[in-house]
Amino acid sequence: MMRIPMTELTSQYTSLKEEINNAIHRVIESGRFILGPEVEGFEREIATYCGVKYAIGVASGTDALIISLMACGVKPGDEVITTPFTFIATAGAIAHCGAIPVFVDIDRRTYNIDPNQIESKISNKTRAIIPVHLFGQPADMDAILKLSAKHKIKIVEDCAQALSAKYKGKEVGSIGDVGCFSFYPSKNLGAFGDGGMIVTNDSQIAEMSMILRQHGVKSTHESVMLGFNSRLDAIQAAILRVKFKHLDNWTNLRRQIASLYSQLLTEVEEIEPPYVEKNNTISASYYTIRLRNQLIDRDSLRQYLALKNVATAVHYPISLHLHQVFKTFGYKQGDFLESELAQEQVLSLPLYPEMRNDQVIEVVDIIKEFLRR
Ligand SMILES: *Cc1c(COP(=O)(O)O)cnc(C)c1O
Repeated sequence: MMRIPMTELTSQYTSLKEEINNAIHRVIESGRFILGPEVEGFEREIATYCGVKYAIGVASGTDALIISLMACGVKPGDEVITTPFTFIATAGAIAHCGAIPVFVDIDRRTYNIDPNQIESKISNKTRAIIPVHLFGQPADMDAILKLSAKHKIKIVEDCAQALSAKYKGKEVGSIGDVGCFSFYPSKNLGAFGDGGMIVTNDSQIAEMSMILRQHGVKSTHESVMLGFNSRLDAIQAAILRVKFKHLDNWTNLRRQIASLYSQLLTEVEEIEPPYVEKNNTISASYYTIRLRNQLIDRDSLRQYLALKNVATAVHYPISLHLHQVFKTFGYKQGDFLESELAQEQVLSLPLYPEMRNDQVIEVVDIIKEFLRR
């Protein structure tokens, strides 16, 4: 039996080999390796795609978050509200600014931050909210926009898993004050290394981000603030520009695979397929199910699938408030019950654009087989 991996990163290259090789050679021969025309071209393409005025290429999605927060004026001692059910980098970025991550529990159905619980966590130190569009499902932005307007706090969208997702028809990243994307190889649009992008309509945030990514240097050689070395490589930008043309097609394939999974799994009582808000369009970056029945042992299911050559992953096994690194913030087990329940029950199944229907059927059949035993 063929192995079914979580994600597959070589076939995209195989299908675009010549074009990608040419793009890489073009950069090598140009001698422009950092920023330059390839990065500027890619920035324009992303800005157009997202429908925003500015896009700023940086070294990673994590850096996009850190720089965005700083550009929004987040300072040491400030508070930034976010979800505990996300990748570590979301809250890590807050802590890197010297700010305090203030977690708000998630909505059980969407796994995204529960907007109804945000307001009670807003204090006079709250500077920003980071909604995460987890697994490519847009967060409830209207409710968050209202709170942001009422309390004058910035919204930094973590779109690392959500490029090509739409909230009520609008591209994610263009809804809050600033959006952050990641081009980590396994994301929907993956580089051959690290990369990230900041998008915004706010000229001040855009200017601050450009300054911060380059040692705090404005236009002259004088540094006006403490910055970073966080720029997008020209080779990565050139590769990404080739792949970007296929993103919508790949996302559509992902969506089709996700809906086939859901169709096949609705009849399986023990499993809750991902919920999709009807006004939104998902990017289907992960296909994450919930094991409804407390009696199903997730590890045994994973082992069974592994034995049958099917890879799985858990996004995420530890809620952020329970990570050792955030101990200093004083959180404890039991603080965010929905997030803690999700960490025990979720399971991500293989999903990549090239995945065939018969492979999806096979994965579901193996799950059913396990549940019947
Ligand atoms: C991948 C990811 C990041 C970080 O992106 P990098 O490019 O790996 O630094 C941040 N937040 C979320 C939700 C992610 O999935």
